[in-house]
Amino acid sequence: MAKKIQAIRGMNDTLPEQTPVWQKLESLLRQVVSSYGYSEIRMPIVETTNLFKRSIGEVTDIVEKEMYTFDDNGDSLTLRPEGTASCVRAGNEHGLLYNQERRMWYIGPMFRHERPQKGRYRQFHQFGLETFGIATADIDAEVILLSARLWKALGIEQHVELQLNSLGSNEARALYKEALVEFLSRHVDKLDEDSKRRMTTNPLRVLDSKNPQVQELLVDAPKLSEHLDDESVEHFAQLQKYLDAAGIKYVINERLVRGLDYYNRTVFEWVTSSLGAQGTICAGGRYDGLVEQLGGKATPAVGFAMGLERIVLMLEELKLNDDVKSDVDLYSVLVGEGTDIEGFRISEMIRTELPHLKMMHHCGGGNFKKQMKRADKSGARLALIIGESELESGCVTIKDLQGKIEQQSIAIDSLVKVLPTYF
Ligand code: ATP
Ligand code: MG
Repeated sequence: MAKKIQAIRGMNDTLPEQTPVWQKLESLLRQVVSSYGYSEIRMPIVETTNLFKRSIGEVTDIVEKEMYTFDDNGDSLTLRPEGTASCVRAGNEHGLLYNQERRMWYIGPMFRHERPQKGRYRQFHQFGLETFGIATADIDAEVILLSARLWKALGIEQHVELQLNSLGSNEARALYKEALVEFLSRHVDKLDEDSKRRMTTNPLRVLDSKNPQVQELLVDAPKLSEHLDDESVEHFAQLQKYLDAAGIKYVINERLVRGLDYYNRTVFEWVTSSLGAQGTICAGGRYDGLVEQLGGKATPAVGFAMGLERIVLMLEELKLNDDVKSDVDLYSVLVGEGTDIEGFRISEMIRTELPHLKMMHHCGGGNFKKQMKRADKSGARLALIIGESELESGCVTIKDLQGKIEQQSIAIDSLVKVLPTYF
């Protein structure tokens, strides 16, 4: 036998048994964003490498070690590791951002060369949204309210926590960086190699070190909140007012700095304890400088991205995927001469008259027992048994495969009326 070819590590198939929960999640997402008036944007999966270097930042995990970059006849291209940079690129390129307000969303695969583990993959899927042209904290609140509404719709609101922080203006952050570096350099002996390197390249990233010794040291480090500019303080207070009024609970996490360079002022993450180490299911914030940094006119912006695999894992772990419907409602079973032709006609008629029903027609022949097995396996609620002798009297039999309702013989003419009463 020929050797089987396998998928690339960390790049998963989503199998037919798993797609219903994905579809449920995706349709809820679409429903929630459209109830806020957001529009969908679709961007290419490949972009020039420079786009990500210039936006996400050279000294970030993503750009330093996670990008899938390749040469395309002399051009350096990269499989997109996230969506914000592409969205801003597209917005600038097509004049969507200048002097206007935009609320957009996207969904699709992202690629990062990470060590695969539960909740962390090399191809994963994000749903994200980006708003442009609004500088006030009401829009920061809106995107958070929108995400909170989604947790509610999914039934996971009790299992997620909102963490908030403000990074302040670029100037305030620069002053803070100096104070932080000054502190860190007095305690270099307590820093691990990674933190030492970050101290010189991207000192804020030391704050989200996972090393307990570094975390302990940071208790005494200067605080970002004490270095914020007045406007950012006011913006952050305003955001909290909106969230309080809407009854959204949050905790302020002063160490929350996010791994991408483009954020300023508001940053937030929704975290869960149901997934072990990969606890962040949604992350975002304000990035007022990025549009200009990528060649557009200065435009305030806020957005977030959520990791869909992590949300699906949560739904599975919390057993919230049980109510997801089967792909088949109704399965035809054909017994006897002439039922193949008439059976096709009946199945097609049901599809025409009742297009919301998922009607699977038996193909491939076989005896009654075999066909009933297929019907059971399909997950259908009903078997529609089309028998030779019954057909002569213009009838078929409906059998409830979950055994809730007695088997009954029904005139073909009244099928369209009777079938919907089962669903
Ligand atoms: P982490 O700290 O877990 O590495 P991140 O800060 O790199 O996350 P972002 O770039 O902010 O993540 O992406 C937003 C969301 O996308 C994350 O909160 C997470 O839910 C999801 N995500 C990021 N990387 C992966 C991955 N490799 N596999 C699955 N989901 C991911
Ligand atoms: Mg990461």
